This record gives sequence, structure tokens and C-alpha cells, in this order.
Amino acid sequence: MKVYFDNNATTPLIPEVKEQVINSLEYYGNASSKHDYGKTVRNQIEGTRSLIANYIKAEPGQIYFTSGASEANNLIIKSTTTCGAMCTSCNTGNQPHIITTAIEHPSVLNTCKCVEGNGAKVTYLKVDEKGMIDLEELKKSIRPETRLISILFANNEIGTIQKIKEIGQIAKDKNIPFHTDSVQVFGKEFIDVDELNIDFLTFSGHKFNALKGTGGLYMRKKGTVCPLIHGGHQEGMLRAGTENSVGIISMGAALNHHIQNIGRWKEIKKMRDSLEEYILKNIPHTYVNGNIDSRLDNTSNISFDFVEGEAILLRLNYYGIYVSTGSACNSDSLDPSHVLIALGKRIELAHSSVRFSLGIQNTWEEIEYAKPKIKEVIEKLRMLSPLYKN
Ligand SMILES: *Cc1c(COP(=O)(O)O)cnc(C)c1O
Repeated sequence: MKVYFDNNATTPLIPEVKEQVINSLEYYGNASSKHDYGKTVRNQIEGTRSLIANYIKAEPGQIYFTSGASEANNLIIKSTTTCGAMCTSCNTGNQPHIITTAIEHPSVLNTCKCVEGNGAKVTYLKVDEKGMIDLEELKKSIRPETRLISILFANNEIGTIQKIKEIGQIAKDKNIPFHTDSVQVFGKEFIDVDELNIDFLTFSGHKFNALKGTGGLYMRKKGTVCPLIHGGHQEGMLRAGTENSVGIISMGAALNHHIQNIGRWKEIKKMRDSLEEYILKNIPHTYVNGNIDSRLDNTSNISFDFVEGEAILLRLNYYGIYVSTGSACNSDSLDPSHVLIALGKRIELAHSSVRFSLGIQNTWEEIEYAKPKIKEVIEKLRMLSPLYKN
């Protein structure tokens, strides 16, 4: 049996989406062409744009497609330091200032590091032991030259969901654009950009069962960012390059499936809770990381004291159970997850963490298969662990 519990890293192409992708491979027209082949593709792209707009209660003209969430995050953050509309600081002599958090996805964190190199100032808000930012701290960090507040909707490693509406209100009161990376929430629950006071929202196709290399952003006010990629007139001149029509069509098909089946996450939550309860009850010295009161329904990040997360991953892999340690982006390095360290976890506990992230394709049979296997793996590893014996 193969059990894929790594859905925060990427998700499988479900049959309904696969079918539409295969059909769309026939439509090779360029969406900018005026003949019927072009128009067919244009209609499909605009259909997806409308669907996405509806889903987050926005207008189609506020949705822009990119190669994914990394590009969309780069676009928004880098715009604050390229002398575009957002960066009036350049005229005042002050360096633009950005507020973000210490637990962002690397596509935000490393982009902030990059703009710091260009002279921008960045505040990285600390989080508490559950991964929540302090709203008072956020208010205090706002400066006259603050050009952007960028705060992750739900963290990909631990699932903690921030108080987005309150954060948006704080930004709105100060007239500062608010960006949220909503990748892990998109497709899992309905989003209302007006109610939540969001000015920029980014999403990624492959995190909600569409293809990789496609995603985009919502932008409340036209012209509030400048392009990373210049060229043709595509995407309102915000993102040049012939559209990835097959990828965009796959997002339409996948989002449509999620909207029809949004109730499925309730069942996924029961599966996640069942797995987590089993682990906490049957395996001693285990700790859940994140905020159990405000968390993604599919995510469980657990530290298994006295054993290495990497070792657990490899042994579970042998049983066909696929998990991750922290984020996939960290898996090539031996550094502990920046997220767990920001929560104030001991280095050893950070190293012993495993992320189980479920998806719409997972079944109860898989959960029941995994439970005793996880117990067995931890027991065997602890028998080998000199730390555990002491
Ligand atoms: C995966 C992920 C991204 C990056 O998305 P890509 O489309 O792969 O570039 C950004 N933010 C979060 C929270 C993610 O989980």
C-alpha cells in the first residue's frame, strides 16, 4: 500500500482534473490570437479567472496568472523596492519598510532577504509557541515608510492559521497594503477578500490538485505592483509571456472540484485527528507542534523525542508511507526548520519532527494502515537511540 501524507508539499492530479488536462492538450492556440483556435483557449483561461474570482469574492480583472506562488510572492514583495507605484519612499529619501513574520514560506522570507540587500528595511515578527503573531507587536512595528504587510494565511509546516481579518483591519486602518500567501488555504475553505481586508493574495495550482508551474495572485487595486517579467501584453501587462493555458485550465478544473466537495475537509479533519490521537496515546514523548485551536484541517506536525525526523521518514518510506520533515525546501539541509525554531522548540525536538499532511484522496484504510506502522518505527528507532536509553 502507498500512503501519501505529503500533500502540503504537492498534491496528486485527481482523475477529474487529469481528464480535463488531457482534453486541453488539444487546444494549442495562442490565447492572444484572434482566430477560433486562439479564442477557444482564451475562453477557457477567462473561465478559470472568473471561477477563481468568484471563489474569493473578487472581480475577474483582479486575478493575474503566474508560474506559481513563488513568482507571485516575488512580484508583490519586489515591487515595494522597485520604484513602482507602491514605493513613494524613493521620493522621500526613506528606504521602504516591509513587515512580515519569521515563519513565512521561503518564497516570502528569501525574497525579503533579497530586497533587504537592495536597501529595504524588513521587520520579521516573532511568533508565540503556537506560531501566532502578536497583533500589538504588529501595530507597534508600523512606520511611516511601511509599504507592505505580508503575512502567511496558514503555515505549510505546522498548519497554524493567523488572525487574517484582524491583521487586514490593522493594515487598512493605516492605509498599508496587506498581502497574504494563501497557498495552503486555497481550495480548503471559502475566502472573502473584502471581509478579510486582503489587498494581495497568492495561490499555487499544485497545492490544490492542479498542475505544477501555475498559480497567481489577486490584486485589489490595478497598478499597485510593477511586473517582474516584461514583454507582451498578457495578464494586463503585469506578467508577460504566453499563458500556460493547460496549467490554468487545470486550476479551473481542480478548484471546481474543491468547491463542489468542500465538505470533504471535515472528513479529512476526522482522519487527521484520529491519526494524531492514536500517536499521542500510544507513543510516549510525542508533542504536537502548532496551534490546535487554529489550524489547517489536514496538517499534523509531531515531534517524536529521542529520534531523528529523517530516520522516521526513511523507515516510513520503506512501508510506503510518505511524510516530510519540516518543509520539503529544508530537506536538503541539516538545519532544523526555521518555523519550529521560531516557535522556541529545542533543537533536538525540531530535528525529531515529522509532518503528516493529508489530501482529498486519502482514505480511512490508509489511516488505519499507517497507525501501527508509525508506532513500530518509533519503537524500533528508540531502541537504537542512546538518548532514549538514558
Ligand atoms: C508551496 C508553497 C509556495 C510555493 O508555491 P509554488 O507554486 O510551488 O511556487 C508558497 N507558499 C506556500 C505556503 C507554499 O506551501
